[in-house]
Amino acid sequence: MKATSRVPILFATVPEQAVVGDEDLSWQAYAACMGVDPDLFFPERGASTREAKAVCGRCAVRTECLEYALANAEKFGIWGGMSERERRRIRKLRAQQRRQREASKPKKKAG
Ligand code: SF4
Repeated sequence: MKATSRVPILFATVPEQAVVGDEDLSWQAYAACMGVDPDLFFPERGASTREAKAVCGRCAVRTECLEYALANAEKFGIWGGMSERERRRIRKLRAQQRRQREASKPKKKAG
């Protein structure tokens, strides 16, 4: 298993009202991957992600999981049913949309 801050083990132990720092992690109590082999979610390069994504596909907290991974720039593993590459694409797209929004805002006049 690759080194990561991902905590499938935590998913098995996190109490429902868990808050770490400013983050509410209570959603992890509903993770469908709870009790599933964590290695499934951290496949070796080139290995299939199908099984992990199938677990995510029936997970009630998929959105929360994906947003957590995006917010924390998780580099490894399957989160919210998405691979590193898929998450990178989302981050890139969101950054692009932010730039477009900023560019379309009316400019304030100096002085
Ligand atoms: S979306 Fe997948 S990785 Fe995330 S909590 Fe659910 S089953 Fe686990």
